[in-house]
Amino acid sequence: MRPSSPITDLPLVGSAYAKKLAKINILTVEDLLTHIPRRYTHYDTSKRIADLSPGDEVNFTAQLVSVETSYTKGGKQIQRAVVSDETGTINLIWFNQRYLTRTLREGSLLLISGKVGFWSRSLAMVFPSYQIIHSKKQEGELEIEPTYPTTEGISSKWIRSRVRLALKTVDFPDEHPVLVALKMPKTKDAFKMVHFPKNEKDYELGRKRLAFNELLGLQITANIKRMQRVKKKGSQVGPARQLIEDYLTALPFEPTADQLAAINEITTDLSKSFPMERLLAGDVGSGKTVVAGAAILAVSGVGRKSALMAPTQILAEQHYKLLKNLLAPHGVNVGLMTSKRKTGHENADLVVGTHSIIHNLKSIGKLGLVVIDELHRFGVRQHEIDADNFLALTATPIPRTVALTLYGDIDVTTIKEMPKGRLPVKTWLVPKDKRPKAEDWIRKKLETGGQLFVVCPFIEESEHELLAQTKAVKIEYQKLKKLYHGFSVGILHGKMNIEERNDQLEDFKRGKSSILVSTPVIEVGIDIPRATIMQIESAQRFGLAQIHQLRGRVGRGDTQSYCLLFSETRSEYTLRRLRALTKTQSGTELAELDLSMRGPGEIFGTKQHGLPELRIARWDELELIKLARNFSEKIV
Ligand code: ADP
Ligand code: MG
Repeated sequence: MRPSSPITDLPLVGSAYAKKLAKINILTVEDLLTHIPRRYTHYDTSKRIADLSPGDEVNFTAQLVSVETSYTKGGKQIQRAVVSDETGTINLIWFNQRYLTRTLREGSLLLISGKVGFWSRSLAMVFPSYQIIHSKKQEGELEIEPTYPTTEGISSKWIRSRVRLALKTVDFPDEHPVLVALKMPKTKDAFKMVHFPKNEKDYELGRKRLAFNELLGLQITANIKRMQRVKKKGSQVGPARQLIEDYLTALPFEPTADQLAAINEITTDLSKSFPMERLLAGDVGSGKTVVAGAAILAVSGVGRKSALMAPTQILAEQHYKLLKNLLAPHGVNVGLMTSKRKTGHENADLVVGTHSIIHNLKSIGKLGLVVIDELHRFGVRQHEIDADNFLALTATPIPRTVALTLYGDIDVTTIKEMPKGRLPVKTWLVPKDKRPKAEDWIRKKLETGGQLFVVCPFIEESEHELLAQTKAVKIEYQKLKKLYHGFSVGILHGKMNIEERNDQLEDFKRGKSSILVSTPVIEVGIDIPRATIMQIESAQRFGLAQIHQLRGRVGRGDTQSYCLLFSETRSEYTLRRLRALTKTQSGTELAELDLSMRGPGEIFGTKQHGLPELRIARWDELELIKLARNFSEKIV
């Protein structure tokens, strides 16, 4: 049997089981083997009775001294057992379990687990679970018992027995010769170590090897993709030096060194014979659009067309305006194409639009360049679009491990430097009892012309998401109108049409409204340089990287801006997570913290984050990821 054989090839696994296993993504024998225990119950037999204190959840072994049944005044049966070890005794209490007096024998060794408490004023465990240990050898085996992720009709025990079978019958292919140099257990041994560990160290060693295999697979796929791309013929664009120079001189500001470096890298890519695939990462406001503009200009310089896709209508309009200003003077026709509004797209050199333009792009023919803004919000990868070159923009901070894995096949440019004169956003985590004070502070700011942007709680994705979010934002809107009486309040949500949203946004941008309350989704990417205060409700529901992106929306230029995080959570863990925002302005640092504390879903704030699901490896295993990358390069 091979690892890739269907699971039904295993003895005693029929179609009924296969159906159930499919629910936990087990289709092949290898899937079963890589379905590793989620945790182990450690029967820490080193614990002695004298160490037990009330409230502890414990496992320990002890000898049965006596067991007897008595009755309460109400006539209820009580089974009371006394167990002891060399350090003391403790009572075990059950109710209505008469058989215990028959099954438990004085002198038997018991493995007991449960919570320590009191009974009749002495230390006791009420309804503990127990196993009778027949021999010392068995005690050793019981020390580690795995718990597998399961589904209805499939128990941990069942999985363990099938894994045992599989390990006996599967022929593992020889390891790649390059892997001889790997200082890790062999794959087959690693499976044994993970499913039947002798101790914790064993388990971790085995897990590391399997995690390495998993990461290696991802790296190899990425490396092959890159090789295929480099072999492909693209269209050469040429350095377009003069065009770019004119473009840069015409900018209304001094480009930063990072922007210049990015433009340089991209135009160099474009002049190569194979297609460009590059990700441009940089915090909100670091000026990525300007860089994309240069690429579009270079492409249109050789008569090729480009498209730019934005995640929302508002953003598409914003990009359209900015790029039209930047590029029209250099002879580039810029058009807009969204489901709500189309203008000048027929003979455009650059079409700016939302996701929906993907389907209309075919009519334009093969594009010279496609720019995708906020890639992660789309969950698309470029294969859906026919173009010679791809440039993705993202303000999502990318942890190093993710950059090395997910983007193993593409090039990444990072803009670290912000345009001159931008101050870091002062960030506070406001405890519940300080809320009135914070609101007074906000009111004073509003009275002196300040503007407040309020983001409503992030609501889990569901079919009703739009409705739920709209409802939340409407409630908040009413609250704010009362709270900040006399100030004009605007509202943004997904149920409004684009004109209404634009009106609200324009009013806010012009200072006609002092407060703008929005759903989390709408806000992404919009530029509100005049607003200086960002308020985030139920901050605990957001990922740190998401909040970091949000706070980047407020305050441009030399005015100090602020971000106030409100949270009703009492969890110290969550508060610690949120407090990180008050301490650092590094998006990457925050993303890495998110990754280790909440997993990959949080970074991108959506389920379509495009990160491959890891079965064994974790996203914070930087060293292992680097190792896999090294070996993958040798293999490919
Ligand atoms: P993002 O990286 O968030 O997409 P944008 O490209 O939208 O940022 O730029 C944000 C704002 O900063 C825009 O109004 C843009 O014109 C301006 N900007 C870009 N680069 C610079 C710079 N070097 N100096 C000053 N302002 C800049
Ligand atoms: Mg942007």
